[in-house]
Formats: sequence, C-alpha cells, structure tokens
Amino acid sequence: MDKGIGISGIAGRMGRLVAEEVAAAGLKLAGGVDREPGEGRWADIGALAAAADVVVDFSHASAAAANARAVAAAGCAYVIGTTGLSAADEAVLAEAARRVPIVYAANFSPGVNLVLALAERMAAALPAEAYDAEILEMHHRQKVDAPSGTAMAMGRAVARGRGHPLEGHMESGRDGHTGARTAGAIGFAALRGGQVVGEHTLLFASPTEHIALSHRAFDRRAFATGAVRAARWIHRRQPGLYGMADVLGIAPPA
Ligand code: NAD
Repeated sequence: MDKGIGISGIAGRMGRLVAEEVAAAGLKLAGGVDREPGEGRWADIGALAAAADVVVDFSHASAAAANARAVAAAGCAYVIGTTGLSAADEAVLAEAARRVPIVYAANFSPGVNLVLALAERMAAALPAEAYDAEILEMHHRQKVDAPSGTAMAMGRAVARGRGHPLEGHMESGRDGHTGARTAGAIGFAALRGGQVVGEHTLLFASPTEHIALSHRAFDRRAFATGAVRAARWIHRRQPGLYGMADVLGIAPPA
C-alpha cells in the first residue's frame, strides 16, 4: 500500500484503536475524518478517500450511505464496520460495491466469525431432534438489549445449518411453567454482570453427549485487528461486496 489506510470516525473508540493497529502492523496512516476538525484530519471523506488506498469506517449509520458514495467516487477500497445500517443504506453499499471492493461486517473479530462458520456446520451435521441447541451469553451490566447481536447471529447460523429461518424456532427468556422443551428449538439465555466484554457458548446437548463452542472477547481491539486485516485483504481486489468470512477464507463456495 503506497498511500495507506484512512479512518472515518478516527476520534471514536474504534477509530483510535484502528489507528493504533495500523501503526502496529507497520502500515501507513493516511489520516482520517471525524465530526470535528483536528490534526491529521481531512476536510471531508472525499478528500480522505483520494489520499488513501483503503478507508476504514467506524463512524455512525447516518453517515454510511454518503460515505460509501464518496469512497466509490474516489475509486478507493472500503472497509465498513459501522452497525445499524438500514436496508436503504445497504442498497447504497451494494451499488458502491459495483465500482470498488468493499468489506462490510457487523463483527470483525476473527474468532466470532470462525465460531459462526463452525456453528452452521455443526448444526448441519447434528440432527435437530437429538441435539438440543442452547446459546448462553454474558455481557457487562450496562448492556440494554438481550439476546446480544452475536448470540442472534449464532442462532441464525444454527438455523441456516438446519435449513430453516431462526424465526419460529427461537426459545428465549424461559421463566415459570414453560412446559417441556420443543424439539428443534434454539434456546437462548442471557447473563448480565460486571464488565464482561462478551462471552458466548453454543451447546449441542444430546442424551449421550454434549459438544460446546465458546468464544470470549476480552478487548475491543479484536475488532480493530480484524478491520486492519480486512483492509490489507481488500486492497487491489476486484470490485464487490465481501464479508469477514471471505477475508478469513472460510466462506462457503458460492
Ligand atoms: P464512537 O461513538 O466511540 O465513535 C464514533 C466516531 O465517529 C466518533 O468520533 C464520532 O464523532 C464519529 N462520527 C459520527 N458521525 C460522523 C460523521 N458523520 N462523519 C465523521 N465522523 C463521524 O463509537 P464506536 O464504539 O467507535 O463505534 C462506531 C461504530 O462501529 C458503531 O456503529 C459500532 O456499533 C460499530 N462497531 C462495529 C464493530 C465491528 O466489529 N464491526 C465493533 C465495534 C463497534
């Protein structure tokens, strides 16, 4: 990479970590943009994209569509980790991906993406009538939603492996006289406490054996490292919309 990596949302929690990880990887930082001007910041994302090989974006969903258009107009590769994009935003991203290569992922942790790929394969291999799938997650006490987005992604991966949608198969928030477990249900349980960054376990429980897949995140840096890995991977690729599974080489054949 000659020009280096530019960062949208460079003053944010993720943006700062990505800047550190760019330096740690021995890559060049092409500056950034944020809501306020500052040292090393460009006036707008178009100027940043013109000065960078790849723009990594961890800013805000409200900026995603305009950012994707500007980056594509500059012919720059794009890695976007911002979450909460609407279907319309995602359509703009898909359009921009006709002109430039884009990696879009709601979770850049290599570990979580591997767990999702394995969860799907395990669910496809283990018959749903015999192997009850249960997902247990724990997060810090400030978290306001449950189950977590990653727990939901695990549930969707299990459902995909079983060849049906998650909807209609989800059992969460069990309390009181719930009756026996429904065959083929995908169960969810959430613990909240302390400062846990994110812990997820997927258990397949049969009458004769248990098999569990666990992931623990200790540090948001896992996402920044993954984003820099995605930026290196996307540089000089053909235009297209890619995911973290493509970056890690674990995407199922098209
Ligand atoms: P943050 O609030 O700490 O940082 C966001 C930064 O973007 C701020 O500095 C803000 O000023 C800036 N910003 C907002 N709107 C902007 C705009 N229009 N133009 C330029 N800059 C703008 O948030 P964060 O924790 O760093 O997370 C940022 C995003 O990344 C969120 O959507 C979050 O959910 C997502 N995220 C994704 C992953 C992943 O693995 N994909 C991991 C962590 C966070």
